[in-house]
Amino acid sequence: MSAPHTIARALDQAKALGLARLDAQQLLSHLLQKSRTWVITHADEAMPAALIDDWHTQLSRRAAGTPLAYLLGFKEFYGIALDVSADVLVPRPETETLVDWALSCLRGGVTQPRVLDLGTGSGAIALAVQQAYMSAQVWATDASAPALIVAQNNAKRLHLPIKFALGDWWQAVCGLRFDLILSNPPYIAEGDPHLDALQHEPAQALTSGPEGLNALRHLIAHAPAHLTEGGWLLMEHGYNQANAVTQGLQMKGFRAIETRHDLANLPRCTGGQWLSAITSTSKPQAPSP
Ligand code: GLN
Repeated sequence: MSAPHTIARALDQAKALGLARLDAQQLLSHLLQKSRTWVITHADEAMPAALIDDWHTQLSRRAAGTPLAYLLGFKEFYGIALDVSADVLVPRPETETLVDWALSCLRGGVTQPRVLDLGTGSGAIALAVQQAYMSAQVWATDASAPALIVAQNNAKRLHLPIKFALGDWWQAVCGLRFDLILSNPPYIAEGDPHLDALQHEPAQALTSGPEGLNALRHLIAHAPAHLTEGGWLLMEHGYNQANAVTQGLQMKGFRAIETRHDLANLPRCTGGQWLSAITSTSKPQAPSP
């Protein structure tokens, strides 16, 4: 007779497949509907027979690179547990840098600011901003209908009054202006070797043109038509794209351009303020005849 299938054995199987211990504990805790502490302290407990097949499926999916968040069905972002599926990018901690910056902009601005999160995915940025700043009126868009459903369900569950619109970038917000526009667009270059490790996430949330700059450039080009006077555009970008984004903002006439670093100290977000009055008066004057 084979040894009973215990929690300890389940964790050993995960280790043999090369899974990180924390991932294995979290997967098991989710499957058994017990806390991680319970999993750690009940090594000799038998695995429920009905769950063993599910456990093996989870193990093989994780070993094949499926993000832990997709297997658990949720990801923590800015202190909020967000439901996620393979229709959306897994929210990353570096995006919290953008939320921190957004909130500091809002605190110095108008009392009921209009905020836009373009390409919201799971809704992470919009939901985090709305939760921290309840007087803001927050809009969120995405070109993917399945992604927008994930974001809408998160908003409903968290009772956050976000307004959602389906559409490609600016098409979803025709004629609207905002005090603050945020985006974590796709910014990885097509063919970038990092993409091998990201193949389980939606490609349209990851790549954008040969340099990864197409979406960022499109955001900069059209933002002024959607910003109020003194409004801000803040964007996340790749670790090596701060100069390109800064130059794009400068050429468009943005002011107060700044780059913020993430917790790994990589230049991660760049943004600027739209002051059309200053921009138009400070344009070089044509020489007098
Ligand atoms: N920061 C993500 C990564 O490199 C990419 C997210 C994005 O393209 N917006 O894994």
